[in-house]
Amino acid sequence: MKLVTYRAGVEGAARLGVIADDLVVDVAALGESFGEEFPATMLDLIDAGRPGLDALSTALGECDGDFPVGVATALANVALLAPIPRPRKNIFGIGLNYLDHVTESSKALDTAPDLPREPVVFSKPPTTVIGPDQPIRHDGDMTQQLDWEVELAVIIGTRATGVSRADALAHVFGYSVMIDVSARDNRRAGQWIFSKGMDSYAPFGPCIVTADEIPDPQVLDLWLSVNGVEKQRSNTSKMLFKVDELIADLSHGITLEPGDIIASGTPEGVGAGRDPQEWMWPGDVVLAGVQGIGTLRHPVIDARRGHGQGVIA
Ligand code: MG
Repeated sequence: MKLVTYRAGVEGAARLGVIADDLVVDVAALGESFGEEFPATMLDLIDAGRPGLDALSTALGECDGDFPVGVATALANVALLAPIPRPRKNIFGIGLNYLDHVTESSKALDTAPDLPREPVVFSKPPTTVIGPDQPIRHDGDMTQQLDWEVELAVIIGTRATGVSRADALAHVFGYSVMIDVSARDNRRAGQWIFSKGMDSYAPFGPCIVTADEIPDPQVLDLWLSVNGVEKQRSNTSKMLFKVDELIADLSHGITLEPGDIIASGTPEGVGAGRDPQEWMWPGDVVLAGVQGIGTLRHPVIDARRGHGQGVIA
């Protein structure tokens, strides 16, 4: 299933939806039509576990594309939000997880040229998250080196403590796309949370594809363009630490909980690694996608004008 969080009107509340062709099916309304109470938010659905997904899947199957009045809306008529608009915890970020990105980073930034022997972990606060089409804030008082990083995002479904690599993928709820926006000139003594943790630095979506539809997360193309010019193109097969290794590694020290998000690292082609270096500026438009999931589109705005509240420079 492709799951979304959306708003049907400008003033409407955020709703949980599932994509059916060119429609968005309102999960709560679908449940009501069956006399059942279905989860109202993505986190509620994740918390409901396998029974929650099975009940939703069964209801969709019974409709067979013919939905009761008021249950489905044209996808073109809704505004998509981040699939989890407000994560409960910081997003786990993985640094230096693609070979050629390790190389370009060591030339341009202060990272080592040697391959990491264990995953490099940082985090991004929940306030970094923005949904599809929402603006990435460029604050010229804070940065002159705003960079892009397309990544496969992994959403945890069930609590994982000390899990083995073999058991790790069973804890995944689904997958999505995230841009790990990074202000390269705000790296402080090797600590990345400020440079990667500012408001709007985690574009996320457009949907979560449930794990049953992506049995192998290591075969997916991913790409990113700025103003229509492709900057990154690679495949998740090139990750140094695969998704199952990341989950196993993290879970041995930090219990992973339902709704936790792991941004699994970016391939080569970031702005810092280019010659000459390139950065994002107000007026730019960034597209980023992962095969089988979807594409994010984000304008970059001048955060000093209108405080970034939907004002596009
Ligand atoms: Mg990254």
